[in-house]
Amino acid sequence: MNDSIKLFQGKDALVHSAFIDWCDKHPKGWVANLVKPGSAKLHRAVCRHLRFVSNSNAKMTKVAKYCSADRKELLKALDELGVQINDCGTCI
Ligand SMILES: [Zn+2]
Repeated sequence: MNDSIKLFQGKDALVHSAFIDWCDKHPKGWVANLVKPGSAKLHRAVCRHLRFVSNSNAKMTKVAKYCSADRKELLKALDELGVQINDCGTCI
């Protein structure tokens, strides 16, 4: 996969905090949330859907998240993986 794409996946809290850290450092970045095999939802990194601060036990990265600062690169990479993308209705 392209170097500009970062994948965060795992039940470990460290993976989740690394993901949140990436979002904080890339406020203009893009996150594709793999909701089910072959289907992802595209969010802006600042989307509130990506942060459920009310539940500190939530391990959101147990669902794979593909992140990139470049929307076009991200869409291309997911297309190559055969993943369909839907835009988030809230942030896009
Ligand atoms: Zn969103």
